[in-house]
Amino acid sequence: MSEYQHRARKRFGQNFLHDAGVIHRILRGIHAKEGERLLEIGPGQGALTEGLLGSGAQLDVIELDLDLIPILQSKFGHEPRFKLNQGDALKFDFNQLNAEPHSLRVVGNLPYNISTPLIFHLLSNAHLIRDMHFMLQKEVVERLAAEPGGGDWGRLSIMVQYHCRVEHLFNVGPGAFNPPPKVDSAIVRLVPHEVLPHPAKDHRLLERIVREAFNQRRKTLRNTLKGLLDSHAIEAAGVDGGLRPEQLDLAAFVRLADQLAEQTTGA
Ligand code: SAM
Repeated sequence: MSEYQHRARKRFGQNFLHDAGVIHRILRGIHAKEGERLLEIGPGQGALTEGLLGSGAQLDVIELDLDLIPILQSKFGHEPRFKLNQGDALKFDFNQLNAEPHSLRVVGNLPYNISTPLIFHLLSNAHLIRDMHFMLQKEVVERLAAEPGGGDWGRLSIMVQYHCRVEHLFNVGPGAFNPPPKVDSAIVRLVPHEVLPHPAKDHRLLERIVREAFNQRRKTLRNTLKGLLDSHAIEAAGVDGGLRPEQLDLAAFVRLADQLAEQTTGA
């Protein structure tokens, strides 16, 4: 037993990576370089941390579990490019990192229970971020990377693709972790657009339209959006109200949101 022995805690979503081949593949996918600014969320016992620091980059980590803090400190604390932040990544103020715009490279084998809110928290700071590499539940990665027309296309795909280019890099089986999770995992790369390809007049209205539309994904838009837009307004946005939400691409949702914006300001 080493002094670093730590019992994985379910409530912190702890599944520690132990497969050297998988760790290497993730690090290769990130390809960190000297002088870059990295932020690792949930370093755990440092499975990825060591390789990230080895690149010569400057690395901040955020870890919630107090018991892991002395372990991380003793492994990496001597390295001046390493900064340990104890706390909840969901509440972390990314501005305190003083990173240049579009510079921060965010990395994490994320606790699955917080992955979606954490991605949204990060996207609200998208201007600081150059890219993100995450290990997530495979099913979530499939939804993030989905295209219109299928069952995976929904609120998560649309709101993330509004901000980012999404790449499903590769899948990882449960055996790569200790303890093994019950589900398959995958690595995803998210790259925030420097210029949004389909900017909405009001981002909150896009969220509202998308939420409303997918609340009942089997129904037609004419039905699901009736509290927000009438058939005439849907048509004015160049959208067929007889379609179901999963048949619409991001640009069409933005047109609907802009129609709602016009209706609201024009009232
Ligand atoms: N990166 C390590 C690895 O690959 O072996 C650990 C990954 S484990 C799936 C998730 C890590 O996130 C754990 O160390 C856990 O304590 C930490 N964590 C859980 N919730 C967190 C939160 N809200 N903020 C920061 N870290 C959190």
